Amino acid sequence: MHPRGGEERARQGAFGERSRHGRPQGERGDLDTGSGGEHLGAQPFREAAGALRPVFAADGVDAAALTLNALLAERTGPLRLTTHGGASPWHPHVDRDDDAPWAEWFLASSCLSLAVLLWDRGRAPGGVCASATCEDVFVPLGGGRERRRYCSRRCATRERVAAHRRAGAAGSAQMSITR
Ligand SMILES: [Zn+2]
Repeated sequence: MHPRGGEERARQGAFGERSRHGRPQGERGDLDTGSGGEHLGAQPFREAAGALRPVFAADGVDAAALTLNALLAERTGPLRLTTHGGASPWHPHVDRDDDAPWAEWFLASSCLSLAVLLWDRGRAPGGVCASATCEDVFVPLGGGRERRRYCSRRCATRERVAAHRRAGAAGSAQMSITR
């Protein structure tokens, strides 16, 4: 049993959300040391992130749902409720065990969160940044039916500036041809 690990996990939401306890999440210390003090390699997390990517890349709600269903069938346990031994209120988990490895917890919690988002919004829960120089995925927060294309304002601005430059270059090329 690793009560600390269980508690930390209970408090951590997927995607580094703030917990209901108002504590900032995704602190380095939480991920550097596992519940038993073991070092956590990045590779299992990379693998989990890679497994989740098709959900973000899916074109539309149906494709996202089918991709999530496959992950839920192959990579998670059944839906269960836990208090981590009384350390937190009852809440859902789909990892196989309260003491499952962090990467398994990360993948399972992400699947659960994405499934709830898809259910709640009735559309694909996330997206892949449309910038050719960025590989980030994102979950649009807040309302708006408009499909978001970029992960961040930074990427959106950079792409807008690049498009503007391209349009400018094409315009002047056109001018030199017609002259
Ligand atoms: Zn981006």
